[in-house]
Amino acid sequence: MRNANYNLDVYPKIVRAGKETTLTVRPLYDHVRAVAAVSEVTLYPAEGGPAQTAQTPPLTLTPTVVDDGIQVRYLFEREQEYILLFGNREKPLAETHLYALDDDLFTRRPYKGDLHIHSCRSDGKESPAYVAGAGRRIGLDFMAITDHHQYAPSLEASRAFENVPIDLHLYPGEEVHPPDNPVHIINFGGNFSVNGLFKSELYRREVQALAEKFTDFPPDMGRYTYASCVWCFDKIREGGGLAVFCHPYWYTHHRYDVPEALTTLLLDRQPYDALELIGGYHPHEFESNMLQVARYHDERARGKRIPIVGVSDAHGCETGELFGWYYTIVFAPSPELPDLVESVKTLYSVAVEALPGQTPRAHGPFRLVKYAQYLLREIFPVHDALCVEEGRLMLAHIAGDANALEWLRAYQGRTAALYDHLWATA
Ligand SMILES: [Zn+2]
Ligand SMILES: [Zn+2]
Repeated sequence: MRNANYNLDVYPKIVRAGKETTLTVRPLYDHVRAVAAVSEVTLYPAEGGPAQTAQTPPLTLTPTVVDDGIQVRYLFEREQEYILLFGNREKPLAETHLYALDDDLFTRRPYKGDLHIHSCRSDGKESPAYVAGAGRRIGLDFMAITDHHQYAPSLEASRAFENVPIDLHLYPGEEVHPPDNPVHIINFGGNFSVNGLFKSELYRREVQALAEKFTDFPPDMGRYTYASCVWCFDKIREGGGLAVFCHPYWYTHHRYDVPEALTTLLLDRQPYDALELIGGYHPHEFESNMLQVARYHDERARGKRIPIVGVSDAHGCETGELFGWYYTIVFAPSPELPDLVESVKTLYSVAVEALPGQTPRAHGPFRLVKYAQYLLREIFPVHDALCVEEGRLMLAHIAGDANALEWLRAYQGRTAALYDHLWATA
């Protein structure tokens, strides 16, 4: 975390490419007051200067003194990261980083979410409401509790915070386990339970009918299993949810959970909405994520467009494992469910690994990874610090602390306000 992000108020930091923008720099504390008096500001476009030549000369900007800081004006030519140095460029007083974006990304904002996590209603450790509070405490903007075979716990989490002023968006969800089918599927956000449909005879009848319709099906490939997957994915979409193909390379009981032939068929025909690119694996299982990532790149090289998510699949928030290690950043117009679902489907997401003590690593399309790495370094640490307090208060509220509600009300809207402050207005 760069010190300037705490010491200086620099805004906007996310600007529109091709547009002249005024940046304001305000020292927040006495010990950085000198920044307000510099006569020289140096700008480095990380990928190259205006002429897009092979050489990148630093550009010198002349600051204007304003009330309690300085301003510089610059036309950020194109989408990339820009580095600003204040004072003598050989020995700058401070350094800050900006990002210029093309319109499609500029009009979206980054939301952190976990789309696959368990509570004690299945084999997790804590109550659904606790998992929600703990999720906000680690900086999640949205999440769904996705217990095995169960949809109700996700609703229980939402109900616990009904009429409570929080900024975490809690959506319905479940981990779907179709009978006689090894594939695990996440129903993220769907407005009804797919697990709840398996008791009915209709499921087997419809899957059977679907299986018979596949005329071009490879022989001996278990067309019933594939049809069962397609049926579940369709049902999730019917409910307005995102249908996630989970952990294909999870190694369990001396084999991969999903047979390779079935994984190949699913990746080839893509009946799902999103692939769990980074799943919730323990250190001894990291190979599984490596395989998923390698497979994703191979499929993309073959011309496939693959929507992706990263998930913790955590079974406990206080175990020191999985929880917070993996998540998704969705670049969406808002954190509302239809926007999140549509943005993932149209390839505006990255899957993140953020293991303790390591630099977070984003996976996905190159352009988004580049921007995400900037956000993870420069913006999310500030965002996440705001979430810590809100998450703690959510936990205090469900523990019966009568003051928590009032404090939550006072805190509400802080992460949105941070984004409004850091994003250029046009
Ligand atoms: Zn699973
Ligand atoms: Zn799971």
